[in-house]
Amino acid sequence: MYRPSEHGWIEMVVGPMYSGKSEELIRRIKRAQIAKQNILVFKPMIDNRYSIEKVVSHSGMNEEAIRIEKARDILKYIESDTEVIAIDEVQFFDDEIIDILKKLADQGLRVIAAGLDTDFRGVPFGPTPNLLAIAEFVDKITAICMVCGQPAHWTQRLINGKPANFTEPTILVGEKESYEARCRLHHKVPRDL
Ligand code: ADP
Repeated sequence: MYRPSEHGWIEMVVGPMYSGKSEELIRRIKRAQIAKQNILVFKPMIDNRYSIEKVVSHSGMNEEAIRIEKARDILKYIESDTEVIAIDEVQFFDDEIIDILKKLADQGLRVIAAGLDTDFRGVPFGPTPNLLAIAEFVDKITAICMVCGQPAHWTQRLINGKPANFTEPTILVGEKESYEARCRLHHKVPRDL
């Protein structure tokens, strides 16, 4: 199989919500396009926050993307001339994504993956920690803490304006839920022990 470089690699962009992961991914996608590289962009089916077939940042930047249900679906789209793949919201994929991205990098592709490193509880999220371990390049980026203005590494979940409990279910009916970027001091996760 023809590959433009001898080997590929995995690069990760991680951080809390609002840290600019999607913006950074879009920036890298645009540069690959300027270099006329064959790039495929993927996102999980689960994330339909703003748009159906686009990677969209909170500030409105966007880029066309293929929505897939399972990590394995990536393989259906790879052609012999694919040079780069970019994936947003990588934390939502099943664990098979780890082997699939490794295999593609082994075959010579540049793999760029962006996603949450931890969930609202501060717990490592889905396949992200394993991908961080095997990636050649990792950028951990920060947002601004909505309480004090310091760099924020954590995602605060609020229910009716109050910090969500550690055991709060993911889907809530009839409650007002929101998320904020917070620093370690202001990231609150009440836990009934
Ligand atoms: P992510 O993919 O990490 O959630 P996005 O790339 O979608 O981030 O959005 C980043 C944008 O979010 C910033 O450029 C800014 O306009 C906006 N934003 C909203 N709240 C914050 C915050 N607390 N800190 C930094 N940026 C924020």
